[in-house]
Amino acid sequence: MAAEIAAAAGLRVAVFDHMPTPARKLLLAGRGGLNLTHSEPLDRFLPRYGAAEPLFRRLLAGFPPDDLRGWAAGLGIETFVGSSGRIFPVQMKASTLVRAWLRRLDGLGVTLHSRHRWTGWDDAGALDFRHGEESVTVAPRATLLALGGASWPRTGSDGGWVPLLEGLGVEVAPLAPSNMGFEVPWSDHLRDRFAGQPVKSVGLSAVDRSGAVRRLKGEFVITGTGIEGGAVYALSAPLRDAIAAEGWATLTLDLLPDMPDAELVRRLRHRSAESLSTFLKKSLSLTGPRAALLREFAPAADLSDPVTLARRIKRLAVVLTGVRPIERAISSAGGVRLSELDERLMLARRPGLFLAGEMLDWEAPTGGYLLQGCFAMGTAAGRGMVEWLGREENNSSPAPGEGMEPTAAGRTNADRRS
Ligand SMILES: Cc1cc2nc3c(=O)[nH]c(=O)nc-3n(C[C@H](O)[C@H](O)[C@H](O)COP(=O)(O)OP(=O)(O)OC[C@H]3O[C@@H](n4cnc5c(N)ncnc54)[C@H](O)[C@@H]3O)c2cc1C
Repeated sequence: MAAEIAAAAGLRVAVFDHMPTPARKLLLAGRGGLNLTHSEPLDRFLPRYGAAEPLFRRLLAGFPPDDLRGWAAGLGIETFVGSSGRIFPVQMKASTLVRAWLRRLDGLGVTLHSRHRWTGWDDAGALDFRHGEESVTVAPRATLLALGGASWPRTGSDGGWVPLLEGLGVEVAPLAPSNMGFEVPWSDHLRDRFAGQPVKSVGLSAVDRSGAVRRLKGEFVITGTGIEGGAVYALSAPLRDAIAAEGWATLTLDLLPDMPDAELVRRLRHRSAESLSTFLKKSLSLTGPRAALLREFAPAADLSDPVTLARRIKRLAVVLTGVRPIERAISSAGGVRLSELDERLMLARRPGLFLAGEMLDWEAPTGGYLLQGCFAMGTAAGRGMVEWLGREENNSSPAPGEGMEPTAAGRTNADRRS
């Protein structure tokens, strides 16, 4: 996004990526349909960014969801609003969008240098890259780092930039998994019978650090090691923080979220001589994985009394004992502290160095909020770079882009840097 904006403004732009091809995580996201953004109004959208809401209020004012849809349409990618309000490309994949986008960037003169791993700065402040066996140095007038977090490192985002920025004195919150699964010590019976099965239409709640209860309705999947899936991801931040502090966390399930407590107790009181399984199935449609979860976590003594059984069905405590690794998380929490940046997303302590995307310290649930946030950041950083370079131009002479040709090791044209 930043490259497109800067190039459209007449600047010479080069993009460097250490992978053989670009946008691998975007392409991976495309396998799940590529949820680009969400159609809900901004007063519901913005709180999804939690503590970073003030930043995203400003960023989304500059690049709102409708602009993202318009931008995609400009690339020939029509989008639609799904039944959940999420917005996807009609084709439900990323490859067509990425191809069209690369063509547009090429047309704008943006050069793409793959297999270039950024490794820091040389003594003169130029960017150092490793390109195969070669060292390459580049001295641009402004730089945007958009190196991602540390989830799915095989897509390229491996968090290797953390010590490089810390070396500048930049404060970086530790990278942690976000939108990930959790470990649950299942019984052999539950794991053997139900691993891989979805648990549908349940209520989920967790208590966050401020003591507030966060609730939602949705579904998740039982896995061999615990639980995964959209509804769990949406509560992943408070659950992760509780595990970090206590070593465990409680996820509370409502197995019959549409039935009020009093109605449930009334029905349970009318149970005749039939077995509990038969009754749960016939009268409450509580079968399969939901019934198995009740058996797994409700003490046997609570199953015979209507009031205690109703309490377990409506508020079943599932203890989570661990967090699934960041390598398999949808996104990362942590990163460069937002307080390090000015309103253009430029590092206050290093003028001309801009940052965007998941490498910054924010997180959001799945639902299109991550990509919308990254696109809006790229847009803001691109505009910020154009504006900053425009001001710099008044104070210096080299042409925009001067010093950007990669030079082999030892031939850094530090004297050409502006
Ligand atoms: C399985 C999966 C599904 C997802 N689905 C969705 C979805 O549907 N909707 C949604 O909103 N979000 C989704 N996301 C999240 C979304 O893809 C990310 O939030 C987004 O891609 C982050 O963008 P970014 O530019 O910050 O980082 P990235 O997309 O990770 O890009 C970082 C780039 O930096 C490069 N790089 C890193 N280090 C270096 C270095 N030292 N030198 C040179 N290059 C380097 C990497 O190769 C990479 O190309 C999904 C994520 C995953 C893993």
